[in-house]
Amino acid sequence: MSTKNPDHSWFGRVVAPGTSESLSMVISEGYSGTDVSIPVCVWRGKADGPTLAITAAVHGDEINGTGTIRHIIRERPFVLDSGTLVLVPVINMLGFERHSRYLPDRRDLNRSFPGSNEGSLASRMARSVFDQVIRRCDYCIDLHTAAVRRTNFPNVRADISNGQLAEFARAFGAEVIVDSKGPKGSLRSSACKEGCATLILEAGEVWKVEPGVVEYAVRGVTNCLRHLKMTQGEPVKPAFRIETKTTKWIRAAQGGFLEFHVSPGDIVEKDQPLATNTDLMGDEQNVILSPRDAIVLGMTTLPSVAPGDPICHLAYPRKGVLRKVEKAVDKLKDDALHHRVREELASSMRITESDSDSD
Ligand SMILES: [Zn+2]
Repeated sequence: MSTKNPDHSWFGRVVAPGTSESLSMVISEGYSGTDVSIPVCVWRGKADGPTLAITAAVHGDEINGTGTIRHIIRERPFVLDSGTLVLVPVINMLGFERHSRYLPDRRDLNRSFPGSNEGSLASRMARSVFDQVIRRCDYCIDLHTAAVRRTNFPNVRADISNGQLAEFARAFGAEVIVDSKGPKGSLRSSACKEGCATLILEAGEVWKVEPGVVEYAVRGVTNCLRHLKMTQGEPVKPAFRIETKTTKWIRAAQGGFLEFHVSPGDIVEKDQPLATNTDLMGDEQNVILSPRDAIVLGMTTLPSVAPGDPICHLAYPRKGVLRKVEKAVDKLKDDALHHRVREELASSMRITESDSDSD
């Protein structure tokens, strides 16, 4: 049971058991001198239990999570038996209003936690969110997408060395967990230090609410609630699970125009072609190969690249794991969410077989 909210008072209002309230949290002041506030839905189960925050758009353009939280608020896809859910659809309201990752002072709010009341705009806003929400929660799920011009196969990132968080992250039911503490100043690394076990989901693209990504995130949230006994049922296990610390961005060696041979979520073998780099007349310049057996975590969605531009984000599992993964994927039904999400993420890319494919 949470001991962080003995009075259940949120932003000046006591939320009664078995009810939910649409509230608003003041986080700063605008240039006009009026308050800048963000909407927060606080939903309590009938019984006491843990306090879980679901947050989105700490990067203001990453709105798949905003769509996910809107879906939870509107559709109530589970019964909340116990504990408290604190739903924050947009943390970085000033970035969100500009369709931007960053704040108007060009700082990254997700490098400004836990923040300070005497610091920059970003630092003060971070402090405000941290004190009013994060410190009062036992757990947090922070929803992200890939950065602009990239997309991500859904993956959970969490510090697996923290036993309580490892169980929570596995319960989410993602096929891929990247074991990491998160960058300095991120909401999740600061929250974890404060005793709020926080994972992030990285899924899809900026500026979109993608149906498969929303379904994936809602399923994950529901699984986490089941794990915490806040709703009934057992968490749904993924068909396979890859946990890894090792990921790598494969970058363009030359400028040119890419033809992709893989899409997000694909399993690739060592030396398998990821993309062919051509000039604008279509003449091949080089073929980009996978340096190891891997799963494609993320990709650029922009085929024109300069030297050094990121092309493909690979996660490297332990030896032998990928064989098992391939078998598990083969057994999935055609309409499994795993397949639907992958198809959706690849729907706006042209994927071809490489000429240098051996089979
Ligand atoms: Zn982000």
